[in-house]
Amino acid sequence: MLPFSPPRLDQKTVDAVTEVLLSGWITTGPKTKEFEKKLTEYVGCKKTICLNSATAGLELIARWFGLKEGDEVIVPAYTYCASANIVLHCGAKPVLVDIDEKDFNVSIGNIREAITERTKIIIPVDIAGWPCDYNEINEMVNDEEVKKIFKPETPEQKMLGRILVMSDAAHSIGAWYEGERTGSLTDVTVFSFHAVKNLTTAEGGAVCLNLPEPFDCEEIYKTLNMKSLHGQSKDALAKTQIGNWRYDVLEPGFKCNMMDIQAAIGLVELERYQETLDRRAEIFDFYTAAFVDKAWAILPDYHNAQKESSYHLYLIRIKGASEAKRDEIIQNIFEKGVSVNVHFQPLPMLTAYKERGYKVEDCPESMTKYSNVITLPVYYNLTDQDLKMVTDAVIRSVEEVL
Ligand SMILES: *Cc1c(COP(=O)(O)O)cnc(C)c1O
Repeated sequence: MLPFSPPRLDQKTVDAVTEVLLSGWITTGPKTKEFEKKLTEYVGCKKTICLNSATAGLELIARWFGLKEGDEVIVPAYTYCASANIVLHCGAKPVLVDIDEKDFNVSIGNIREAITERTKIIIPVDIAGWPCDYNEINEMVNDEEVKKIFKPETPEQKMLGRILVMSDAAHSIGAWYEGERTGSLTDVTVFSFHAVKNLTTAEGGAVCLNLPEPFDCEEIYKTLNMKSLHGQSKDALAKTQIGNWRYDVLEPGFKCNMMDIQAAIGLVELERYQETLDRRAEIFDFYTAAFVDKAWAILPDYHNAQKESSYHLYLIRIKGASEAKRDEIIQNIFEKGVSVNVHFQPLPMLTAYKERGYKVEDCPESMTKYSNVITLPVYYNLTDQDLKMVTDAVIRSVEEVL
């Protein structure tokens, strides 16, 4: 069976991890700091903090911004549950909005309609690695009319004076938007290094800070470090310095720091990431060439004058397929030895959200896309022969079932 998305790990990764394991320091330390520095340079933001997941990063920022009960956060209905779960963790309300007709990303018009005086954060999600319309989103939150609606309550909210844009870029590290990389496009960007993502640390994530003046991203970095380590005034490494054992706990913080073992994997991944992206782009091109003349195939955008994807997920849609037919096609593809997937079930389909009163009828575009989408395997180690196997399996399965 051709797997769906195994990580790109090899002797180089093993050597890097072994070095850390034998170094005498395995948790947050020099490797994590180096990875943070390299990520900052790579994406072009002001400062980066690495954590043990993207989820932790999203929640840490939401809490840093003072998100609480009674507040609202605008989240696309078409995303992984993490984007909205963290809002619920904070006691606030995710306001789920539908996606746009043109792609799988949140609709700008729908965001605007959903803004109320309770809105504190917008979380755009770069589905499949395709950047959202960030100019439009940034212009919207800076629009005088929209700023007038905003009701700041905490010092951070007062300093910003508008809705915070926190990009869920779990899929999009390395993607481009008007000559800039994701990570540098909004106030805050959160990447995931989970095992199935383009760039992995097994589990892990990073928060890229790009808050405008007068925010001091260096200071915020220190605050986030503190918050990610039980509110300790010193981290474990600092405490090992001679005579430096005493520390304070400033608040009951979280425990979500990244280990140097993880950072070592990430450093290897980042160093050869362009090569990874190039191969992923070739795979996208291969799929598009194979399906472009099929009347039943609706193919994704991944490169135009304004944007370039990080080639995370290849989302092909089968024109005219119902959800049941799509499921049958998927079954058929698996029987031909190829693993495929579906990204994503819109959140109102899931029990936790259904129970909270969210309705699939409120996100028709998400439901339309979800019901006939299939995610094809994309990863560095796929050979051209594997790709041929995938495209043959998809074409035969669709033609057998439809
Ligand atoms: C994977 C993913 C996350 C969560 O990432 P973790 O690092 O596993 O916390 C968040 N949002 C989206 C869209 C994802 O796909």
